[in-house]
Amino acid sequence: MQTRIEKISNIKDASAIFAEAGEILRGGGLVAFPTETVYGLGANGLDAAACAKIYAAKGRPSDNPLILHVADRAMVDMAAAEVTPMAERVLAAFAPGPVTVILPKRGEVPASVTGGLSTVGVRMPDNDIARAMIRAAGVPIAAPSANTSGRPSPTTAAAVRADMDGKIPLILDGGACKFGVESTIVDCTGARAAILRPGAVTREMLAEVLGELAPPPVVDEKEAPRAPGMKYTHYAPIAPLTLISALHENLSEAFCVAVREAKAAGKRPSVIVSKETAERLAHLVPPEHIAVFGGAGDLPAMAAHLYECLRAFDGKDADVLFAETVEETGLGVAIMNRLKKAAGGRIRYV
Ligand code: AMP
Ligand code: MG
Repeated sequence: MQTRIEKISNIKDASAIFAEAGEILRGGGLVAFPTETVYGLGANGLDAAACAKIYAAKGRPSDNPLILHVADRAMVDMAAAEVTPMAERVLAAFAPGPVTVILPKRGEVPASVTGGLSTVGVRMPDNDIARAMIRAAGVPIAAPSANTSGRPSPTTAAAVRADMDGKIPLILDGGACKFGVESTIVDCTGARAAILRPGAVTREMLAEVLGELAPPPVVDEKEAPRAPGMKYTHYAPIAPLTLISALHENLSEAFCVAVREAKAAGKRPSVIVSKETAERLAHLVPPEHIAVFGGAGDLPAMAAHLYECLRAFDGKDADVLFAETVEETGLGVAIMNRLKKAAGGRIRYV
């Protein structure tokens, strides 16, 4: 299959492209599209056969459920049997935006889309291209991140093409994603709201709207996953990644030690670090082996560039990677959640 990329600079000039995307989606095909979090791989969320193509294109385990994306509040009712008062408050405060609410599912939503769960995840993306495409399709759009399962999520159309070329007919190119990490997932079906995956809508922001939140649930490996990434490998670069956690004053020295050790073992190390650490490593690590994900402490920039940095050394001559950590508060919780999964739990504390 030929994969076409359509660059959309102004949605007003793109009505023919949205009409075509809507037609592909209603016909049971796949379209990749930008959102404010990461690029999604969309299919008609009420069509089990169409959604099966998502699982096939990604190589995604079939018990890992999909989020349904809607264009407006009215469309939430096409996916959810009931919108709980808690979910109404979350939607009123943060939709459209980087948050997904878990609600009881409608009968029309195929069980294969929800991994056999009786609940469904619903999200209204804060991206004009995404909402125009969903409106053109006229149905909730099931969309996981548009990457091969297990790989870093795509935050540019080029990253989508790297994983999806030849597998899907159309990629809508809306430029780089604003937030760069997937939506916060909030289970709104219980007595207290529970965060199933951290994202740019932080625990603090949710607590302001909802009051006290439940502590994160523990996963049972034998059950269907309640949230993304809780069970499967996620976000992994090709070369193995180790995180380096150190006090600020020890950080560059800790990286120097790790890089020297790796070189002594005959390896070709590369690093993913803040701008400040990059400057302090310049004498030891050549620029092509350094990816900078933002200024130290600039969490929005670090989140936005995280997945591009995790993909930066794929296909290059790096065979071990080291990445800097961030403080686990606010948006840092989401960044560290993705980094720890990308590293498969390998952290060196200095
Ligand atoms: P992604 O992994 O990037 O495809 O993001 C979508 C994630 O949303 C999936 O991995 C799911 O685990 C999560 N999700 C979707 N529906 C549900 C649900 N009903 N309950 C809990 N998590 C869900
Ligand atoms: Mg994903």
